[in-house]
Amino acid sequence: MPRPREDEAQLDAALRPATFTEFVGQKQVVANLKVFLKAARDRKETVDHILLSGQPGLGKTTLAALVAHEMRAPLVTTSGPALERAGDLAGLLTRLEPGTVLFIDEIHRLPPTVEEYLYSAMEDRFINIVLDSGPHARTMKLDVPPFTLVGATTREGMLSDPFRARFGVLLRLEPYPEADLVLILKRSASLLKISLEAAGAESVAKRSQGTPRLANRYLRRVRDFAQVESDGKVTAKGAAAALERLGIDSLGLVPVQRQILEVLSKHGGGPLGLKTIGAYVGEEEATIEDVHEPYLIRLGFLKRTPRGRVAAEEGLKHVGVTVKKANELF
Ligand code: ADP
Repeated sequence: MPRPREDEAQLDAALRPATFTEFVGQKQVVANLKVFLKAARDRKETVDHILLSGQPGLGKTTLAALVAHEMRAPLVTTSGPALERAGDLAGLLTRLEPGTVLFIDEIHRLPPTVEEYLYSAMEDRFINIVLDSGPHARTMKLDVPPFTLVGATTREGMLSDPFRARFGVLLRLEPYPEADLVLILKRSASLLKISLEAAGAESVAKRSQGTPRLANRYLRRVRDFAQVESDGKVTAKGAAAALERLGIDSLGLVPVQRQILEVLSKHGGGPLGLKTIGAYVGEEEATIEDVHEPYLIRLGFLKRTPRGRVAAEEGLKHVGVTVKKANELF
C-alpha cells in the first residue's frame, strides 16, 4: 500500500474522529467493540488483542486511537515494515507503559521472525531474547507489561493461522454507504470551514468508492476549484466537474482502474494475470490488489478467477469499449 504523503497523513489526523460519537457508520463493529471495551474496563483489565481488517482508508487507525482513548490508555503506533528485526520489537515491548494500546499498521507485513516473537508476548507476556550467537548463545526471558495489540491489515488472508488465532477480537470494516460518506463530508467541511452544499456532498460521496479517506481528499480538491474558479461554494455540478478534471469519473473510477479495464478489453476481456496488468498500468501488484481491484469487483466490473482477471461486459462498457469476444464466464 502506498503511504499517504506527509501532508495527507497530517490532514488525516486533523479530521480523525476523537470519540465514538464522531465516528460515522460501521454500526455493528462499533457496537461490539464498545461492549468489549466496557467489559474490560469494568474488570479493570486490558482489552483482548484486536485485529482490524479492511481496505485502506476505512478507519482502522482511527479505531485503534479510539480504543486507547476509551481505555484511557497510552497509544504507541508502529507498522509491520518498521519492525525489521526481533530486537526492534523486544525494545518496544519491554518499554511499554502498562495498559498501552500498541497499534501495528500493515501487520501482515511483519517479518515472520518478528511475528513469532510476538506470540509469547501476546499470550503470556514474556519474550525470550537470544544473547550472543554460536556456542555462547543463551536466552533471557523478559517480562512484557500488560498491553493490547491492535493490528490493522488490508490482507487478513496473508496472516498465518497461529497469528490470527492469538487475537481475541476480529473486526472487519466494510466500505461505507453513500449516506455515511455524506455525513463524514459534512463533518469535515465544517472542521475545514468549507461551504459544502448538500448536493455537493452527495456528488463527492458518490465518487469516493465507499472510502472516507478518498472522500476527505476529494473534498479538499473540489474546494480548491470552487475557490479559484467560482464563489467558493461546493455545488454538485462544480464537484463533478472538478473531479472529472482530476480523472475521477461519474462512478468514482480513477485512471488506473480504467486502464485495468482497458488492458483487459484489449485482450478480449481476459483472463489476464496480475503481473501483466501491473506492467501495463505501471503499478505494483499489491497496490492493484489492495487498492484498485476491490471497488471494480464490488461494481461487478471485474472477477478474480484461477486463470487470471476477467472483465465483465458492464465494466468494458463503462470504459467505452465494446466487447468483441463475449467471454464465456459472463
Ligand atoms: P485506515 O487506517 O483504515 O487506512 P484511517 O483511520 O486513517 O484509515 O482513516 C482515514 C481518514 O478517514 C481519517 O482522516 C478519518 O478522519 C476518516 N475516517 C475514517 N473512518 C471514519 C469514520 N467512520 N467517520 C469519520 N471519519 C472517518
